[in-house]
Amino acid sequence: MNIILLAPPAAGKGTQAELLENKYHLNHISTGELLRKSASREDDYGKKMRSLLESGELISDDIIFEVLNKHLETCENQNLLLDGFPRNIYQAERLEEMLKENNDKIDFVFLLDVPKETLKKRITGRRICEKCGSAYNVNIDSLKPKVDSICDQCQGKLYQRNDDNEKSFEVRYQEYLDKTSALITYYQNKQILYRIESDKDKEEVFQELCERIEKRGRNDNDKK
Ligand code: ADP
Repeated sequence: MNIILLAPPAAGKGTQAELLENKYHLNHISTGELLRKSASREDDYGKKMRSLLESGELISDDIIFEVLNKHLETCENQNLLLDGFPRNIYQAERLEEMLKENNDKIDFVFLLDVPKETLKKRITGRRICEKCGSAYNVNIDSLKPKVDSICDQCQGKLYQRNDDNEKSFEVRYQEYLDKTSALITYYQNKQILYRIESDKDKEEVFQELCERIEKRGRNDNDKK
């Protein structure tokens, strides 16, 4: 089973990915996380990546595929849970070709739908575990860590991403509208897009995702 999580910035892709990964034993791949790992390098490459990420713009396709392919070489589990990838039509087409080579395909594309105003509120409260990548939100009761600045899962330290500020958010959101949202129609046409209203509790969203997976039921392709 291969799943794509498609969403604007801070809609909860990472949070839902972690829950889905555990329940369905998927190979969670976040291109954002892979890029942040590269950005943590103490050399010129790391420095360049940090400033690219902070700008909020999409990273070039060449860099994305370089980082992604390198990571895929280390993976055994072929059930992919793609978080933040693909982010434009070119990436989606390349992904399809890659899967086809293994007689594989995407089963579900979940669009996590959250209004911009909610995203803006979430962005400043988001905290990430530097060890395991789990996401929290200090502005939302149900997403707060049990102990201040410490990850519930692994006791790692929580940090705030450099691009989680209002200025970077505006650019990231515009990039989503300009480049990524085209994937909605792209996957609707392939009849694998499922729209999930995600302006609610993370458990409720998760429940809905699981129901969709288990039912493989009616999709949203006719709805819009
Ligand atoms: P979010 O969706 O919350 O903005 P991500 O962790 O998915 O965060 O991505 C962070 C940043 O990494 C994006 O703003 C973008 O610059 C870059 N990025 C991640 N995935 C891709 C991708 N597939 N293509 C281009 N840029 C990407």
